Amino acid sequence: MITDHAFAELGLPVDASEQEVKAAWRRLVSQWHPDRNASAAAVAKVQRINQAFEAIRRARQQPEAMAEPVAPEPEPAAPPAADPGPQRPPIRRKIKLTLEEAAAGCIKPVRGKLTETCTTCDGAGHQVLGGNCASCGGSGAIQQRSAWFGWPSVRIECEACLGGGIARRTCPTCDGACKCEVSYEVQVRIPHGVRDGDLLHVDARRARAGSAPADLEIQVQIAPHALFQLHDDGTVRCEVRVNGFAWIANRTVQVPTLAGAQTLQLNRDLQTYLLQGQGFPKERRGARGDQVVTIVPVFPHKLSTDQDIMLDQLIAASSDAREAQPAAKARGRKRTTG
Ligand SMILES: [Zn+2]
Ligand SMILES: [Zn+2]
Repeated sequence: MITDHAFAELGLPVDASEQEVKAAWRRLVSQWHPDRNASAAAVAKVQRINQAFEAIRRARQQPEAMAEPVAPEPEPAAPPAADPGPQRPPIRRKIKLTLEEAAAGCIKPVRGKLTETCTTCDGAGHQVLGGNCASCGGSGAIQQRSAWFGWPSVRIECEACLGGGIARRTCPTCDGACKCEVSYEVQVRIPHGVRDGDLLHVDARRARAGSAPADLEIQVQIAPHALFQLHDDGTVRCEVRVNGFAWIANRTVQVPTLAGAQTLQLNRDLQTYLLQGQGFPKERRGARGDQVVTIVPVFPHKLSTDQDIMLDQLIAASSDAREAQPAAKARGRKRTTG
């Protein structure tokens, strides 16, 4: 029960003192006691009054407040409890995504457990049964004999009914703890274009059927990628090592993109290629940026005899290359031709 409602149930302002709360509760319980009040709503009303009283007591974290001091002394005014409000506090979780998942968007299940107010007893820890309390016979107090012979016995408040005089039992669901642990499972829809560190709020209504409703605040974590570097404008850069001969020969190669491998037409005049619209979304749910592929032509460190011969043939067949022949080869050629 929300504390504001609890005060309203007792007809009190939220800054009512502990003594005022107790007095109002006593008066209302007495007024609505089913023994004295024939109204059909009496038991339910008494239960609400008790729950309101318990809620205020718990909120003020004064579990001993019910024990009547033998010599009453002025109690310091308890600070008003912070009202949790109608919204339950969100559960903070982290979700790890690959860069590909963040680029395309995905659905991730989030499961966990949370502690919430017991719904069986509405957080009171007990249920009002109606009828007189068996311990005190409905009077709400118990005579306690003094330890000193000759001293008068004292009336103390009945612990079983907290002085209300009405029979009650410990809540079977939470065993009096007022709170229960419940599981939740939410399918979190991650929009495409989320960035590392982004916070996503997931409404409680997204919880799977049968799960506790859970408000989640999810922090996105994007794992570093082995190939791609992501820039703020959505550009994704990568370096791809390609066969140097394939590059010279203007062949095609497979290059990685966020959406999988893609064929790239090599051009021996170019080492940098722009793949338009193949990058990361420029903003959340936005259009994609570009991918920039830098190719690194790789040639064998040591040429085989066959490769050496083929290269010689290439050089010989190229008129442009002939002009740039090394002197030794040129001399050799002259010898064979001259
Ligand atoms: Zn009692
Ligand atoms: Zn309970």
